This record gives sequence, structure tokens and C-alpha cells, in this order.
Amino acid sequence: MRNESISLLKKLVETPGPSGHEAVIQSVVREYMAPYCDTISTDVHGNLIGAIKPDATPRVMLSAHCDEVGLMVTHIDERGFAYCSAIGGVDPCVAAGQRVLVHTADGPVTGVVGRLPVHLMEKEAMDKAPRLHELWLDIGAATRDDAATRIEIGNPVTFDVGFKQLSDGLAVGRALDDRGGIFVMLESLRLLDRKNLNTSIFAVSTVQEEIGHRGAITSTFGIAPDIGIAVDVGPATDYPTADPRKIGDFRIGAGPVLHTGPNIHAGLGHLLMKTASSRNIHYQLRAEPRGTPTDANAIQLSRAGVATALVRIPCRYLHTPVEMLSLNDLENAANLLAAFIEQLNSDTLKPGEAKS
Ligand SMILES: [Zn+2]
Repeated sequence: MRNESISLLKKLVETPGPSGHEAVIQSVVREYMAPYCDTISTDVHGNLIGAIKPDATPRVMLSAHCDEVGLMVTHIDERGFAYCSAIGGVDPCVAAGQRVLVHTADGPVTGVVGRLPVHLMEKEAMDKAPRLHELWLDIGAATRDDAATRIEIGNPVTFDVGFKQLSDGLAVGRALDDRGGIFVMLESLRLLDRKNLNTSIFAVSTVQEEIGHRGAITSTFGIAPDIGIAVDVGPATDYPTADPRKIGDFRIGAGPVLHTGPNIHAGLGHLLMKTASSRNIHYQLRAEPRGTPTDANAIQLSRAGVATALVRIPCRYLHTPVEMLSLNDLENAANLLAAFIEQLNSDTLKPGEAKS
């Protein structure tokens, strides 16, 4: 991968943006997206929308979500310890023992998620997973009043973990869900730069996906696309205790994951697979017999329905501070997305055309 692309991914991963608090990450995405777009705007909900040839038809929407899971301060006790609710699906087991950043109006405040040490733990407690209200946030405050000079009820919290590369082209960090998808979307815009497209493109960095695809719901309604393509990460099943018998065999480094099932427009799904094959991009196929838990679901159900496709990057340890994926998969997903978009035109959705 190009050094500039690695730097972009690192910057995206290291910028915090828990659901509902995406302004900072959106400013980073805007900076990288703007050079490739004719117009760029932010809607009332905070979705960032970069458009290329906005008046052309068919209208093609790309979406990747910029928000990430996290915690939110809900209570501060008299000794200055704070308690949190989860923003999205956070496993309390992985929150315990983490260093965190509490995002306040005056900037980030460092804290830790405390838990009783093994020395003081009852034997039964050792075998039990903690629940979130049994963990506390310690910012080193002495009292509630002292804590209140630094943090407030409602402040969002993220794990204080940066981006690292491992050997063999793998990377780890928090928020690769879905900064990996944002990265793929931005890289595909770079690859399409100055290409003669037969469609308009609306590249949307959506907000609030982790709490119910809320940004995709409103942005899709506003854009009214004919075709929608969501880019997200998805669970790999190539590590201990992840059972391929449940959803299939998905490996990091084995290529982007494409989907088949009711959430995916059959013609677009077929065209994606055909495009991958013609470019020698290896892909993995996931069968999903219901709506996918991604922006693709919200996009498809917008207005009178949108022809929808989905590209996912296999990822280990989703929603933990050590999400892991392959840089090759990201690169292949971006190449596939760009090649796919380049072929779209007014005939794509005509019955029979996309399948030919
Ligand atoms: Zn996601």
C-alpha cells in the first residue's frame, strides 16, 4: 500500500468519533474527500456528502459510516468515579482495564476503566463477566465536585488506542469499524478522479450507524439515489472460537466479502462478483437471508426502495480496541469499488442488463 494511503488510514483510525459526536472525524474525512468532489456539504444530522456530477443520472450513493462504538458518562459518584452507558455494542469484558479519553468541550481528559484486582476479587466474581455498571471510570478526581471541573454527564468516551501495523500486511486499532470502510470509499474516489463517469456519485460519510443506521436513513432520503453501495467491515471467522458453521468461513487477507440475499439487488450483486473476477480480485461470498446489520439495510428500504449492494472487509475482534484487518483487503475493496462504479450507467438497472 502507498505510504500516503497508510497515513490516511492511520489518521482516520486515530481520530475519535463515537456515534452522535462525529464532527471531528467528519472534518478529517472532508479534507480528504473535497479534492475529488464538485460539491461537499453536511446535512442537519451531520452526514458528510461529497458529490460528483450531482445532476447526472442514475444517482449512485456510496456510504461508509464514520462513527464508532464507545461509552458515555451517565453518573458521577460522590468520590469522583464516573459510570458509563455503552454507545453501540460494547463488550464490558474488553472495556475493563482500558485507558480511555473522555471528550469534553475543553479537550480530551485521560482516565482508566477500573475493576477490582484479582487480589481482592471473590472467587465467583473471577468466573463472571463484568457488567458495564460494575465498572467505573477513574479520572483521578477526589470528589464529585472535583470530577465535575473536568468532565460532564453526557461526555462521550473512546478507548485510547492507536493504529499499529503487524507483519504480513495486517493492521490493528480501534474504530477500523468503519474507518476501514471510509478509507475504501475515499481511495475509490481517488482512483475514479477525472474518469468519465456515466452517473452522479454521492459519497456519504454517514453518522450514527452503530446505534441504528440513523445517518444512512436520513441521508438516503435526502439524496434519493437509484443505486446505493455500502462499505463496511464484517466479522471474520478465522480465529479460535469463531465458528464458520454459523455464518461461513471468512478470512482476513482472503479478499473483500460480497453478499447474496434479500438485502442485495440481484443484478448489482452479480455485477460486483463479475467485476471482481474480471479484475482478478479474490472475494469471499456471504449468504445473508435477512437484512444485513449495515447501512445497506437502511439504504435499500428508503422511499420506494433503492437497488443496493454491499462490500465488506473481513475484520477480527469487531467492537474491541484491537480490531484487526488486512491492508490488502482494503486495497482490493477500493479497486473493486472503483471498477464497479466506472461500469454503472443508465442501463445497469434495466431488467436483464446487469446480469448479462
Ligand atoms: Zn460498522
